[in-house]
Amino acid sequence: MTTVAAYAAPAAKAPLERTTIERRPVGEFDVLIDIKFAGICHSDIHQAREGWGEAIFPMVPGHEIAGVVSEVGPGVTRHQVGDRVGVGCLVDSCRECDNCKAGLEQYCTGGNVGTYNAVGKDGEVTYGGYSEKVVVDENFVVRVPDGLSLDVAAPLLCAGITTYSPLKHWNAGPGKKVAVIGFGGLGHMAVKIAHALGAEVTVLSQSLRKQDDGLKLGADHYYATSDPKTFEELRGTFDLIISTVSAPLDFGAFLALLRADGALVNVGAPEEPISLNLFSVIAGRKTLAGSSIGGIRETQEMLDFCAEHGFGAEIELISASEINEAYERVLNSDVRYRFVIDTATI
Ligand code: NAP
Ligand code: ZN
Ligand code: ZN
Repeated sequence: MTTVAAYAAPAAKAPLERTTIERRPVGEFDVLIDIKFAGICHSDIHQAREGWGEAIFPMVPGHEIAGVVSEVGPGVTRHQVGDRVGVGCLVDSCRECDNCKAGLEQYCTGGNVGTYNAVGKDGEVTYGGYSEKVVVDENFVVRVPDGLSLDVAAPLLCAGITTYSPLKHWNAGPGKKVAVIGFGGLGHMAVKIAHALGAEVTVLSQSLRKQDDGLKLGADHYYATSDPKTFEELRGTFDLIISTVSAPLDFGAFLALLRADGALVNVGAPEEPISLNLFSVIAGRKTLAGSSIGGIRETQEMLDFCAEHGFGAEIELISASEINEAYERVLNSDVRYRFVIDTATI
């Protein structure tokens, strides 16, 4: 066992504080990673505050991990000491179910293991990226391409793949009108990726506060959802809408912005249920769907895609002592556009 420094929430809703945790010895197929950067996802906040239900404390959040391999087990073939690597939301899965076999580990029916707030196959609680080091099975570690700095690559491990996967699955590309609801961590990545895929991109944000950034990062249009005229003007417009909103939303109003046969794909994970008048999907044969992160293979594909197109996330680099303040800013939709912790400050 190795003792490493980390930032943890000692209890639900309690501020995060510096502590130490134990990392398991490097097993045959394990990789030891010196974590350099860890992104702050809104999911970290939902879980640290038990917004999604009962959680495990103390909790070391963080599933947007970028670092350098410092040791490998004897059976490891995919990574070497010195490699620049990333770890996302999953550190294990059953590897045998149809979804695992198809590279869809996020939909594993045999039980996958979250990077934190979960229990591994060894019976130990998992701890995430707000720490100095982590030990992960090589199959759940991806390569960060040379062209990408580790700090801007970290958020791709969740925000990047969570938006890339549905954009690809629902065929965002040339000739397609794609809207993104919410311009935060996931939202700004959705805009960059949809633009790089060749789609015509519209941001639907609560206000026009971040319009300049939106247009700079690849949006063709930017609208405020606080303005009722937006919903009149854009009625029946989009082939695909991705909602990245962390709070309950009036999905009926947004479904009206789809053209017939369009799809609204929700990736936001609000703490409260929504209610929906089903006529919003009946009229126009519309799809309301959801999507969860992405598999390991697709995560690598997404990293390669971002490197090829020359972009990572837009980040605000913070020290570990600023995590609690950063959480408040994320809750106030005041993030531009992902907080990333410099783990050297832990
Ligand atoms: P974020 O950075 O806080 O972005 C969410 C954005 O939603 C905000 O920036 C804001 O954008 C908008 N928003 C917030 N509150 C709103 C409200 N009450 N009404 C309307 N819009 C509101 O969060 P994130 O890290 O991108 O995560 C977004 C959500 O996705 C979270 O619920 C998270 O847990 C979830 N998530 C899901 C997956 C998955 O696999 N499906 C993966 C990662 C995260 P504007 O200021 O532009 O309006
Ligand atoms: Zn996340
Ligand atoms: Zn499985």
